[in-house]
Amino acid sequence: MSERTQGFLISPSHVSRRVAALGLVALAASLAACGGGSDNASTNAGATATLAVLETTDLHFNVRSYDYFKLAEDKSYGFERTATLVRAARKEFANTLLVDNGDTIQGTALADYEATISPIPCTQQLSMYKAMGALGFDAGTLGNHEFNYGLPFLNQVLGGGLEVDGVDASKKCAGAGFPMVLANVISTKTKKPLVQPYTVLERTLVAKGADGKEVKLPIKIGVIGFTTPGIMNWDKRYLEGKVSTEGAVEAATKYVPELRAKGADIVVALLHGGMDNAAYSPTMENPGLHLSKVAGIDAMVMGHQHGVFPDTAATPGFNLPGVDHKAGTVNGVPAVMASSWGKSLGVVQLALQWDGAKWVVNKSASKSELRNIQSKNAAGANVYVDADPAVAPLIEPQHQAAIQYVKTPIGQTDFRMSTLFADVGDPGAIQIVNQAQQAYVAAYIKASLPQYAQLPVLSVSAPFKSGFQGGSDYTDVAVGPLAINNAADLYLYPNTVYAVKVNGGDIKNWLEAAAKRFNQIDPAKTTEQQLISSFPGYNFDMFTTADVLYEIDVTQPVGGRIKKLSYLGKPIDMAQEFVIATNNYRATSGKSFIDKLDGSGTIWAAPDANRDVVIDYIRKNPAVTRAANGAAKSWRFAKATVAGPVVFSSGANALAVAQAAGLANVTLLAADDGSGKGVSKYAVDLSK
Ligand code: MN
Ligand code: MG
Repeated sequence: MSERTQGFLISPSHVSRRVAALGLVALAASLAACGGGSDNASTNAGATATLAVLETTDLHFNVRSYDYFKLAEDKSYGFERTATLVRAARKEFANTLLVDNGDTIQGTALADYEATISPIPCTQQLSMYKAMGALGFDAGTLGNHEFNYGLPFLNQVLGGGLEVDGVDASKKCAGAGFPMVLANVISTKTKKPLVQPYTVLERTLVAKGADGKEVKLPIKIGVIGFTTPGIMNWDKRYLEGKVSTEGAVEAATKYVPELRAKGADIVVALLHGGMDNAAYSPTMENPGLHLSKVAGIDAMVMGHQHGVFPDTAATPGFNLPGVDHKAGTVNGVPAVMASSWGKSLGVVQLALQWDGAKWVVNKSASKSELRNIQSKNAAGANVYVDADPAVAPLIEPQHQAAIQYVKTPIGQTDFRMSTLFADVGDPGAIQIVNQAQQAYVAAYIKASLPQYAQLPVLSVSAPFKSGFQGGSDYTDVAVGPLAINNAADLYLYPNTVYAVKVNGGDIKNWLEAAAKRFNQIDPAKTTEQQLISSFPGYNFDMFTTADVLYEIDVTQPVGGRIKKLSYLGKPIDMAQEFVIATNNYRATSGKSFIDKLDGSGTIWAAPDANRDVVIDYIRKNPAVTRAANGAAKSWRFAKATVAGPVVFSSGANALAVAQAAGLANVTLLAADDGSGKGVSKYAVDLSK
């Protein structure tokens, strides 16, 4: 509240305090001037104001610009920097409304720490909400990830009041510190929305009168929220039978007129969802294009897809009918989607006109934009907005506790888990990822997707770190204790697990695409040939299980390299169906591998990060060994006699790593390959 009393949006109580401070004489004068009303409303017809709606979305508990896996600062994200953008916007605009669009309480080690490791007491706010309190949010909605820790925890961190089975609604806890609204999740117990569907915020706007003078006028701002119906799948174990969802369009059609009837001058929709071009359905994940068409919505803030809108890139995302990146509108409704992790602040400038009794939005004069914490300076280097110094101290003890938590050993490895020789057949850092993904997807299918229970579940992963940036750009986990933060090395990206349904033919084609990692080798050539192509290592998907075996024949052109592909010892049946565990990225944007990886093959988009799945797997299987977790070679190179050397580069002087992995066909040719990247040159003998 301290921020808001500085002016920008003044609540009625602040106005009355201010009036009291001015004294009775001034009050009398103002009453005389406006003919007896507390607001000189009708005489100010034609007054105008700008209300800047500021959006954070998908913060995912990134209070600090800090990577808890790398144990290092990362200035490219973090609410402590978004906070600086908020303060700047409040200086710039006389009237602001700060809203949060959900996926707020999950996503970092600090979030897990406060939810499950050392649960935050009822009397204490979650660190994320505490940090947000420094800025003073006006309203928020819930994302899918708010449901990740179950309904009793959600009830606690929202301060109580969730009337739903299994929850003590009377529990009074610290709460979020701002009102939550959510119109499309219904409690089975009460048949009413789990959280209030909307709120009406009564504020005072600083406006410009028709005579050009400043005038203060009241406004009622309706705020309504919607989350993605996917919660019923992703958190089925917590939600089934307890709540249900409605489509955003259905809920808006019901409640927006109600909001208007209660006197809302304007309605701001908080959609924890984004946009996709599909026909509307009440369970669709990203219904923004459809919600924007519901009458009475004046502004729409979006999220969930972690995308950006409006998008100023040369080739913007969301290239969809009705989407106008220049105006920042969706079907004419001013809208934003502010990335994720606090990387951007969404700013919708609503142009308002006072007609003497109420405010009306002039949509064509309204506009929206994103403001980013990272930009480029004239020299092309990245520069970052400073962190707001008020934020970090608020959560410092919890931040330090989370750092201790991620350093805590969760297991032990008896071998050096590295990707140094993943390109030539060492599965040592990839197998455990595949094992974790496979176990996770198989367990979910068994529990929740019985229609796929008959299909084998396999997993692919890739050497995400494979030397692109030099000799230290490899996954390399030392023998000894495994801590939570080692999972960042084993799984570099913040992806989430996806399961796709494919057949044997698709698997062959998928592997053919992955084998683009290699140049075509000419067996007759007597001069040196480079084995590794420019195809990125993170796309070199591979199986690491004795159940699936294949050879890669690098003497053949792309598309004809996968040989002797077998499943359970027999040539794979091209028509047999399988479920493959992979990541969101591959499953939705892997069309260059196989068509089904455009999202159409996805049978489950899991809510959990691959990295968290790996952590969980190590917790359950803490004794990690080469034999059990790092030796299953699904593939080898097809034997070929090549006249000259076939060479590749990898980490400096690491031949012992290849030998320990049983790769007897690798030799060290030169300690320095001459590239200046700090790597050695090795040869692989394909005849062995
Ligand atoms: Mn999210
Ligand atoms: Mg989400």
